[in-house]
Amino acid sequence: EQEVTEYRKSLAIRVSGFDVPRPIKTFDDCSFSPQLKNAIAKQGYEKPTSIQCQALPIVLSGMDIIGIAKTGSGKTAAFVLPMIVHIMDQPELAKEEGPIGVICAPTRELAHQIYLECKKFAKSHGIRVSAVYGGMSKLDQFKELKAGCEIVVATPGRLIDMVKMKALTMLRATYLVLDEADRMFDLGFEPQIRSIVGQIRPDRQTLLFSATMPRKVEKLAREILSDPIRVTVGEVGM
Ligand code: ADP
Ligand code: MG
Repeated sequence: EQEVTEYRKSLAIRVSGFDVPRPIKTFDDCSFSPQLKNAIAKQGYEKPTSIQCQALPIVLSGMDIIGIAKTGSGKTAAFVLPMIVHIMDQPELAKEEGPIGVICAPTRELAHQIYLECKKFAKSHGIRVSAVYGGMSKLDQFKELKAGCEIVVATPGRLIDMVKMKALTMLRATYLVLDEADRMFDLGFEPQIRSIVGQIRPDRQTLLFSATMPRKVEKLAREILSDPIRVTVGEVGM
């Protein structure tokens, strides 16, 4: 355990919560499929970043997480890779339809970037990814969602619009990611986030990532997540 503490220290990782899994050292320490390992190698990701070292084993074990690390630290893969594993673990005959993984991001640019990252890892597993954000034709989005997907990457307002239009249901959703939670809060999306969370089954796994953690965001996180483990990398602002 002394070794784990030293290793965390060397990665500038601080954790709080119960039964925190030990951080990994390589991607091989994760239960990834050969296809996923190939896709990671193809991206040129040789070893996990600090946030990935600690977040991956937590998320893969099914726990909720609050992940705080600065921009550029590799938070996207920390939630996308376990999401692929989560989706592949679902029983084949899920009666419900609609996405299994739901990712909310504050802006269309960010949602698009996450969409591209998801596609890279989802492709080889036959997992379908849809992007839902403003500035795209609602009719085209409606049609795409109606065709079905396992992952949806969305800005909160447009996602709510699409659910209202019955383009998708949240019945099958069990993995929710709130990315850049601080920015979503700053942009006034708290009511939309609460609405989306309220539509997803309470036994879901919830992940919240942010570059900073102001008190109001921490409070929202504590309401929405169940017994989350909190992981911080480096020094972060409030
Ligand atoms: P954040 O969301 O924390 O701002 P991103 O997920 O956008 O960071 O990642 C920043 C950059 O680092 C991206 O270009 C991404 O492809 C790259 N990256 C992520 N994980 C790794 C890794 N393990 N090894 C090398 N590059 C990585
Ligand atoms: Mg990010």
